[in-house]
Amino acid sequence: MRLRHHIRDRNKPHFIAVLTKLGITYKVSGGSSQYFDLFVFDDDARWPILRDLAKEHFVRVYHSPVYIREDITSAQWLLTHATADAGYPQPEKDFAYRSATFDLTNCCPRCSIGKIQDRPLRLTGEPKNKTAHFFSPQWEHQIILVRPEVQKVFQEEGVTGVRYLTPLKRRTDIPLTSVIQILPTTTLQPGLVVAAQKSVTCSPHDEEISGMKTLNEREGARADDFCGRVKFHVPYLSRLVHYSRKSFKDASDIVFSAEWFGSGWSASQHTIVSNKIAKIVLDRKWKGLELDPIQLV
Ligand SMILES: [Zn+2]
Repeated sequence: MRLRHHIRDRNKPHFIAVLTKLGITYKVSGGSSQYFDLFVFDDDARWPILRDLAKEHFVRVYHSPVYIREDITSAQWLLTHATADAGYPQPEKDFAYRSATFDLTNCCPRCSIGKIQDRPLRLTGEPKNKTAHFFSPQWEHQIILVRPEVQKVFQEEGVTGVRYLTPLKRRTDIPLTSVIQILPTTTLQPGLVVAAQKSVTCSPHDEEISGMKTLNEREGARADDFCGRVKFHVPYLSRLVHYSRKSFKDASDIVFSAEWFGSGWSASQHTIVSNKIAKIVLDRKWKGLELDPIQLV
């Protein structure tokens, strides 16, 4: 694993002047807002200089681990999500797909914790990307769709803990043929090492939740509804995720995390896969699945 530092900010003329003097190049983006971006790895000789300069000039730096093949093949469990776009879940107007796809009985209308998918996802049509093997719809990034070829191999290899659910085309409900959803059938024991993870509590005293302006009134939210449950901010690769080894005892190859992740009105359980799945995906060079090793403690 290597650590990558992303230096990204705007309106820092003194910092830029030093970069120019040192001959360090950077990218400019964002039209009139003029952000500058610079990526540097931990083992780059320029990193200590840039780190100190960024600190001195109050320039933002984001850090993320970058995994090599050996990191992934040696990890027992991995957080995963699909990267190819499957479009918006349908019907998208007023988020009507939620009640059409999820059992919302125990779902908090304010923070969304507790929704359980019990019906097929609907999409506008077959995903357009021709090269990817793994897809995810907008808004519900915990949902993973795979090519039929992936399902076939998973079944041949005896992958456990998965239900295959065929997505439907909106309005007609005709089954899609180029992708199928893999839905975990079990949830892990809680095991996230929470100390390292920023969390939000659904309460009137939480800065983030209480400050949310949009209540989902269609699902019955009232101004005083707070479920008191906790969710964690999505790690977005910005920090390593640590889990207790014990929580994986007798776990299937594909499982949901017991913990919920998200911010604002979004919440979902992460999909976690075993080393067996990671190796199948890497060996066949399938595209579109992010695999981030979990650190076991
Ligand atoms: Zn809540």
